[in-house]
Amino acid sequence: MVAIPGPSIVPDRVLAAMHQPMSDIYAGPVADLSWQLVDELSLLARTSGHAYIVMGNGHAAWQMAICNTMSRGDRVLVLESGVFAGIWGEMAKTSGVDVEVVRSPDGHPFDPDELEMLLRADRDRAIKAVLTVHTDTASSVRNDIEALRRAIDDAGHPALFMVDCIASLGCERFEMDEWGVDVTVAASQKGLMMPPGLSFCWANARALAAVEHADLTTGYFDWPARTDPEAVYMLFHGTPPIPHLYGLRAALDMIAEEGLDNVWHRHEVLADAVRAAVEAWSTRDGIGFHIADERARSHSVTTITTGRIDANELRRVCEEQAGLTLGLGVGGDHARRFRIGHMGHLNPPMILGTIATVEAALVSMRASLGSSGAAAAAASIARALAD
Ligand SMILES: *Cc1c(COP(=O)(O)O)cnc(C)c1O
Repeated sequence: MVAIPGPSIVPDRVLAAMHQPMSDIYAGPVADLSWQLVDELSLLARTSGHAYIVMGNGHAAWQMAICNTMSRGDRVLVLESGVFAGIWGEMAKTSGVDVEVVRSPDGHPFDPDELEMLLRADRDRAIKAVLTVHTDTASSVRNDIEALRRAIDDAGHPALFMVDCIASLGCERFEMDEWGVDVTVAASQKGLMMPPGLSFCWANARALAAVEHADLTTGYFDWPARTDPEAVYMLFHGTPPIPHLYGLRAALDMIAEEGLDNVWHRHEVLADAVRAAVEAWSTRDGIGFHIADERARSHSVTTITTGRIDANELRRVCEEQAGLTLGLGVGGDHARRFRIGHMGHLNPPMILGTIATVEAALVSMRASLGSSGAAAAAASIARALAD
């Protein structure tokens, strides 16, 4: 079983739905499905803005966000609280944008007051966009997107606010319109329970207006070319990814049937179980949380520090002897941290199985543990069941 922060487990229903014969792409079921999906994706990001489906992984949607809104030499401010905002910034830089990266202290979300100060200092309004991630999948920090937006408004700054929700969409609350996000980016293989290969970009009216001045146009990724109300072919700028579209249909149906609020709640309950386990295991020079502030811990992934315990050996034992694939620690010493992904198609038996397996591996390595994480996780789930 994979317990990595993406690609996550793909439900049988999604896999089965993807098993499709090829068909006409200009009219008929595939065309109808495509239009439907574009509409419904806006509901998922909670926006009345426009949704674009990209054939490509999350990096492709990153590229789409940049090249539609920015010009060569424009300044963007990247708020880094792990590794992923920085990689997005690198891509923007390669495309010709002038990138400034500012980092939060290791293990902390980005401080909105610092953002406000940075924007106030930008008196001639040279910064054209602020880029950040909602959940950083390396550090497992969750940035307070609503508060960061408030900081931009309090500074009276006109920069576009672009947010990567690749690891959080379909896992925890994200309100594109209410929180004032101008461009949102996501991908198929995390909370959306699909194989990798699709990504998504949502743009509000301010972002769409920026297209008029942007000169990093690529042809392929351009929003205007993809908004022809007649030509379904142009939604994808070419042949639609037929199997992925049927898979997305099934995934969105599953989310709708459960209810988005219930999906968020389930993720919180399962994340609480993981956190209860880490808390119970923790010792001064052993297991611990990478993210100190519990309010900033993501509901879709947890980065666990291991002190003197060899995290690579722990992952090896889990993988080779127990069939459980844990996430490699990234953005730090990977012998001293690992990650548990708890996003997407998961329920209590899966998460309790993961936690108990990690515990068995730790015990087999004679790691010193505070107390049983499996028992603590079960108690945490029990409280949720009793609610
Ligand atoms: C996984 C992930 C990415 C990268 O997505 P790809 O599909 O591999 O391009 C970017 N940002 C975040 C927050 C992620 O979790």
